[in-house]
Amino acid sequence: MTFEEARLCESLKRNVSKSGYVKPTPVQKHGIPIISAGRDLMACAQTGSGKTAAFLLPILQQLMADGVAASHFSDIQEPEALILAPTRDLINQIFLEARKFSFGTCVRPVVVYGGVSTGHQIREIMRGCNVLCGTPGRLMDVIGRGKVGLSKLRYLVLDEADRMLDMGFEPEMRKLVGSPGMPSKEDRQTLMFSATYPEDIQRLAADFLKTDYLFLA
Ligand code: AMP
Repeated sequence: MTFEEARLCESLKRNVSKSGYVKPTPVQKHGIPIISAGRDLMACAQTGSGKTAAFLLPILQQLMADGVAASHFSDIQEPEALILAPTRDLINQIFLEARKFSFGTCVRPVVVYGGVSTGHQIREIMRGCNVLCGTPGRLMDVIGRGKVGLSKLRYLVLDEADRMLDMGFEPEMRKLVGSPGMPSKEDRQTLMFSATYPEDIQRLAADFLKTDYLFLA
């Protein structure tokens, strides 16, 4: 697969080429067609492999093609995609990439993480949010405050799942995935990325992904 063959819409294609991406990395080449086909995916990929664009591009392409409601100010936002990562740095990198790819489109990404006050982050959510990126604890917090509804959620991404487990986020991840209003795994597309594939990650994949999920190493 080349970026041409990925059949990206014009604005996404323009934003990808502005980023200087010419040739897809292996995880993009193999992952994008799987995700575009609507399958759940567990991918073993390291930082630096290009995994962020591997999940962002097909998700953003679908949201743009469907013409998701342009963001408007509201007390409660209903994002179409939820992306989890273990640290502030990592989730911020994902957010910046999502913002770069969404430039000039109807899709608005927002990022939330702990260690800073929630006020500004909640105002950013209220301005409109299609793709919510966050660390697990802070995501639970904003959902618990009733600022984020999950009824439109179509995509759930768990990035660096092994690090999230190492950092002790398993209870928050399980609580989040089991929270009221979260679409069942049959009714959402779930993507997991992890550098390693030990037993606890296999268990998490079995619990969060559809039984016919694809595995990419
Ligand atoms: P990631 O593994 O997603 O953190 O990406 C690592 C770095 O590679 C980031 O700085 C990306 O912007 C960059 N990158 C990702 N995909 C490509 C590509 N196809 N061509 C050039 N650079 C890329």
